[in-house]
Amino acid sequence: MLLNKDELQTLEELTQIFGPSGDEGLVRDYLKRHYQDLGFKTYEDNLGSIFTLKKSKNLNAKKVFLVGHMDEVGFMLSKILSNGSVMALPLGGHNPQTLLSNRVILKTQKGKFFHGLINALPPHLLKDSSHVTQINEMVFDFGFTSKEEAISNGIRIGDSIICEGEFKVLNNGKRLLSKAFDDRLGLALGLEVLKELKNVDLDFDLFVGGTVQEEVGCRGAFTSAYKVHPDLAIVVDCSPARDSNGNTDDLGILGQGVLVRVTDSNMIAFKDLVNYQIDAMERANVKYQYFISPGGTDAGNIHKQFDGIKTLTFCLCARNIHTPSTLLDAEDYINAKKGLLFLLKDLNEGKNYKL
Ligand SMILES: [Zn+2]
Repeated sequence: MLLNKDELQTLEELTQIFGPSGDEGLVRDYLKRHYQDLGFKTYEDNLGSIFTLKKSKNLNAKKVFLVGHMDEVGFMLSKILSNGSVMALPLGGHNPQTLLSNRVILKTQKGKFFHGLINALPPHLLKDSSHVTQINEMVFDFGFTSKEEAISNGIRIGDSIICEGEFKVLNNGKRLLSKAFDDRLGLALGLEVLKELKNVDLDFDLFVGGTVQEEVGCRGAFTSAYKVHPDLAIVVDCSPARDSNGNTDDLGILGQGVLVRVTDSNMIAFKDLVNYQIDAMERANVKYQYFISPGGTDAGNIHKQFDGIKTLTFCLCARNIHTPSTLLDAEDYINAKKGLLFLLKDLNEGKNYKL
């Protein structure tokens, strides 16, 4: 096993929590409990992002913010049909081809869970087999026999829905399969870093946390960056591996290490930080690879706060992100943990990068 029992348990627990955009409360509760168990106080912004602070003894300490996002892609119930089935809007980006016949979970406003599925037609009933069913055509079935029955069970417009995606260890632990590695791996790495640095004196204040609503436009990034106002933000997220179609020539190959993300749709990387990241990964003997993304991360909104916040992305790639069956490489995860710890300790020494 590449990951130890505790590391695997943290990843399994975090990925399996219900938490689509706008309904991150259970993920927040988990982080709160674990930050507090490590002996740290927790803080929240008014949108629901959470962070903890490992305070420095240095009175003029600079601030470093290590952050991932709590939300996963999901759906919001938009209509209850007379036969008890429901329809829903997407929360975040889905490929509709990945959705039909998935098992889903609905959470009511009162916190009750219902299991169900997304209906699919058998091939002999398809009028046009080339038609890709869109999300606004999909019918979700939670087993209710009428609209009245659904309502009397507490089902309401606005309820949150996610796809089920059980956690499995593959190939003796070399690869991991689950829903929501995007971005529960970022939160898990934050916890790992806190555990390792708990008793290490740092010259800077270290904030570690999770934002809300990244998948619908990096909204928690705005408010949490405003609340923390860091001198340096490090965004840990999960990007799409490009080799899931068998093509190994693109940037972003599973198992090839931490992503050095030079640009994406909402941030051109700070060149000094990217050079520092590369140099640090080489000194730490951590595998890294270059990455360019048509998507974005919370970094896009964090770096534009105030008069600009120096922001570095520290991401991993996984296959099939934004589906219930995401594949992560265990060695990549170990490299990310090792690399983050090295970078933070190196920042503390202040010789190679001045905060
Ligand atoms: Zn993400």
